[in-house]
Amino acid sequence: ATPMSIMVSVGRAAQMGVLVKNGEALQSASKVDCVVLDKTGTVTQGKPQVTDIHWIEANDQAFSDEDKRVLLGAIASLEQHSEHPLASAMVSYVKQASIPLPVTEIFTNHQGKGIEGRVDGTDFLVGNQALMAAFDVQSGEGVTGSHSGFAVEAAAQFAKQGKTAIYVAKAGKLVATIAIADPIKADAKEAISAIRSQGIRVVLLTGDNPQTAQAVAAQVGIEEVIAGVLPEQKQQHIKALQQQGHVVAMVGDGINDAPALMSADVGIAMGSGTEVAIESADMTLLSQQLIVIANLLALSRATIRNIK
Ligand code: ADP
Ligand code: MG
Repeated sequence: ATPMSIMVSVGRAAQMGVLVKNGEALQSASKVDCVVLDKTGTVTQGKPQVTDIHWIEANDQAFSDEDKRVLLGAIASLEQHSEHPLASAMVSYVKQASIPLPVTEIFTNHQGKGIEGRVDGTDFLVGNQALMAAFDVQSGEGVTGSHSGFAVEAAAQFAKQGKTAIYVAKAGKLVATIAIADPIKADAKEAISAIRSQGIRVVLLTGDNPQTAQAVAAQVGIEEVIAGVLPEQKQQHIKALQQQGHVVAMVGDGINDAPALMSADVGIAMGSGTEVAIESADMTLLSQQLIVIANLLALSRATIRNIK
């Protein structure tokens, strides 16, 4: 394509609500035959809310309301230090319940898994099953009391509803499963069908667990799901698709999407996303509407491929 045709496309993309940083990427956009979408904050609104809390109490020891408030305070104290949308959901929930947040003594982020930290001399883990496994917190029967088996059951129930289940361990024992729901963007289904009708393969790529990911994918009409992946693995999946001969566009919003956005032929960041994602991408979607992606791909073909 000529520099002129690229300039024209950059201008038209801007009118659609896509800020193009790298004009060359528009040329690649005209050849895209595979679109990979992150789930949280990309296909979903990224405004997750706590919907249920399943307490895991040992046989001999039920939690009092005060125990629960103390646990929630500790969780929110730690999650304040995380940028993850799920973390914000937990912090808002606890603040809305007017529970005071104690001081965090130690905090460590485990990218794609959750967080670890200490509050009031007690160690906590808050995150997914992979985090629990990494610290040898077992969710099976018999390890943390007879109720622990229900933790997995509760999580499976939540996942079936498309909710994300977050496990909480206190001093190495499971104490709660928190369900967080993040509504799907209103136009997600329509947008995905518009992308697919251009003959483009669509893949959902997420760090969330397979059950939750499948439930969300089913709601928006995505058939291919790659779930439970760490940030480096997101990038590897992009590279693998490229090795299959695909020209890949990746759409994401998180720090965890940054490596994948860089590797993709066309990296598209959500304008509502983190700065790192925006910096790693070739383009930024200023609109929350996913249909813009379908429009952008069609535009790039119309203005670039046909002009040259
Ligand atoms: P996604 O690809 O859906 O944006 P991430 O890779 O950011 O997801 O995170 C993967 C999973 O790790 C989340 O679904 C969640 O279970 C867990 N996780 C990540 N960060 C946190 C956190 N701050 N608190 C609790 N859980 C977390
Ligand atoms: Mg995300």
